[in-house]
Amino acid sequence: MKQLLISLTFIGTFLLSNCSSNAQKNSSMDTQHKNNPYYSRTDTTHLNVTDAEWKKILPADVYNVAREQGTEYAFSGKYWNTDKKGDYYCAVCGNHLFKSDAKFASSCGWPSFYEPIRENSVVYKEDNSHGMHRIEVECGRCNSHLGHIFDDGPPPTHKRFCMNSIVLDFVPEP
Ligand code: FE
Repeated sequence: MKQLLISLTFIGTFLLSNCSSNAQKNSSMDTQHKNNPYYSRTDTTHLNVTDAEWKKILPADVYNVAREQGTEYAFSGKYWNTDKKGDYYCAVCGNHLFKSDAKFASSCGWPSFYEPIRENSVVYKEDNSHGMHRIEVECGRCNSHLGHIFDDGPPPTHKRFCMNSIVLDFVPEP
């Protein structure tokens, strides 16, 4: 009887600790966006939020890339070298942007995709800054800067959507 009680206590503790680690994972995702009333992975309504408002909501490093066209250092972001299956969302507004199926191993040091999840999930803008002519890629819902698009990607599109990890949220396949 005593042995049974010890076993039950052990199993109970194991189950509880597993639950709490899952709860922690969920709450860390919620914590990340809890002060952001515009973040939604289901609402596709276009947002018109001022930079002043985003500055109050976003962490400084996300704001710098998303709203000031900053670029993270090559080989420094959290997603450039991952090939896990799942979905990539805008870290600013939650808009669905890319599937891991369209991600490819690029030597450039930034997460690279050959196509977005749907045509209007991103929008394009001419960028003539830094003495270069490039095409900037913005989120189609919140117009945050995500990165640039180049013509040296793999088939079938031969495009390379060169993105900054910090403005992406990755949700792994269950
Ligand atoms: Fe967005």
